Amino acid sequence: MSRRRLVYEGKAKILYEGPEPGTLIQYFKDDATAYNAEKKAVIDGKGVLNNRISEHVMSGLNAIGVPTHFIRRLNMREQLIRACEIIPLEVVVRNVAAGSMSKRLGLEEGEQLPRPIVEFYYKDDKLGDPIVSEEHILAFNWASQQDLDDMVALALRVNDFLAGMFMGVGIRLIDFKIETGRIWDGDFQRIIVADEISPDCCRLWDTRSERKLDKDVFRRDLGDLIEAYTEVAKRLGIMPENGGKVLAGPKLVH
Ligand code: UDP
Repeated sequence: MSRRRLVYEGKAKILYEGPEPGTLIQYFKDDATAYNAEKKAVIDGKGVLNNRISEHVMSGLNAIGVPTHFIRRLNMREQLIRACEIIPLEVVVRNVAAGSMSKRLGLEEGEQLPRPIVEFYYKDDKLGDPIVSEEHILAFNWASQQDLDDMVALALRVNDFLAGMFMGVGIRLIDFKIETGRIWDGDFQRIIVADEISPDCCRLWDTRSERKLDKDVFRRDLGDLIEAYTEVAKRLGIMPENGGKVLAGPKLVH
């Protein structure tokens, strides 16, 4: 691992050169950050859980024809991915009011929204990832109108898939964030889902008790983050390799 060429190191993951051109290896660290990295911790085993959960979600998306960068998981902390050009926008989909939307618009957390709402945030740590409109995105040329249409369509398909998957295991999908990237098949450009989809970038509430099973456990000091993420992995029928037994399939919660 140490001799591989490091391509990029972010807050929670490292990208290394992949075995073939056009591929990268994505390594999941145990580092957790919140509030634009003002709050930091290392949480043993978080990377392993996110690698497994993200594998599960991305494989499911690939299987229903939602294109993602995911190729296959390599080991407990690494996955092989397609290299893409990351679009500098976070795409957030919300089904239920929470977090920054609740604050901005004075909505109570937990209030069902009239329909899923897609928002864009400009990826810039120095600015604290400000929310931006399509007007900003087009004027500053961060993405084209076609890219935007593709990103919204992709985000809504991911939302339907995730909401259904989690509903089946007794979890309410409040909101989530995805990153997208561009790949080229010859002259043809496509937008794909990149980065990770894990409890680090979703809000997941137990349907009955409203127990938080996501990164808010860390942000708001609500308890043991590993316990929460393990609960998500268990319900989805996946567990880390280190001692956890692989369950037969998803557990139905009545
Ligand atoms: N999110 C994320 N990374 C970010 C900002 C937000 O993964 O840098 C996710 C977050 O986990 C939540 C959704 O996007 O599922 C909406 O987050 P929100 O805007 O409410 O921000 P927050 O309250 O987390 O600051």
